[in-house]
Amino acid sequence: MTKLSEVTCIGVVLYIACLLVPGSIAYSNDTLFQTSTISALMQGVFDGNTTFKDLRAYGDFGLGTVQSLDGEMVELDGRFYQVKSDGVAYRLNDSTKTPFAEVTFFKPDETVVSNGTSNLTQLDGYLDSKLDTKNIFYAIRIDGIFDYVETRSVPIQKKPYPTLSEAVKGQKIFEFHNVTGTIVGFRCPVYVNGVNVPGYHMHFLAANRSAGGHLLDFKLKNASIKVDNLNEFEMVLPNNEDFNKADLSGDQQASLTKVESNLKT
Ligand code: ZN
Repeated sequence: MTKLSEVTCIGVVLYIACLLVPGSIAYSNDTLFQTSTISALMQGVFDGNTTFKDLRAYGDFGLGTVQSLDGEMVELDGRFYQVKSDGVAYRLNDSTKTPFAEVTFFKPDETVVSNGTSNLTQLDGYLDSKLDTKNIFYAIRIDGIFDYVETRSVPIQKKPYPTLSEAVKGQKIFEFHNVTGTIVGFRCPVYVNGVNVPGYHMHFLAANRSAGGHLLDFKLKNASIKVDNLNEFEMVLPNNEDFNKADLSGDQQASLTKVESNLKT
């Protein structure tokens, strides 16, 4: 009896300890953590509740945007960068908030070697052919020397906020030649439609951390592509009136595809 109650006691203590340390059991390095939903961002919910300080607790690698859609965000090695519409990458303050971001702790499970020159579309197809399943999330890191990189950033928006499709009409496009840098990307399953971006979503940061943006295209020779398999997903929703009142019932996939790719119309 004594032994049993001791065991029970230890069990209760462990259980309470787990409750006191959030994520000590459930949270792993293979979790994709995101704030808000892509459909909310499409509807112009550009105010966030999550600070970059808070976000860092969920990952050292990621992408997203900044309060009031003020540019493209890249997180690399635990440092947050904001590529504004002037094309310059700035370090973000801990107290700044994000309306949409996704991060993970990047620990590569495999390296995919790409031989030959490829662009963004070819790379997506090549990676698809190499991945074990299309039903989990992946974080993708590519460090290399690029013949060519094309990125974009978006200008800060004022209230009342427009939709993302409207805001992106003011995007600025940047071209880099013979640039060394890192692609920070994710691949989400098709079933995340409305929640995140189905397929590939990638941002770029130059090695000297001076420039980057949302990746539109590139030309890359031989590269070592590191892939982190993510089979857990966690999402925190904004706690504000804009989010609560947004109409998120429609399928915005067609508009999203336009917003994410190169709008040359
Ligand atoms: Zn992006």
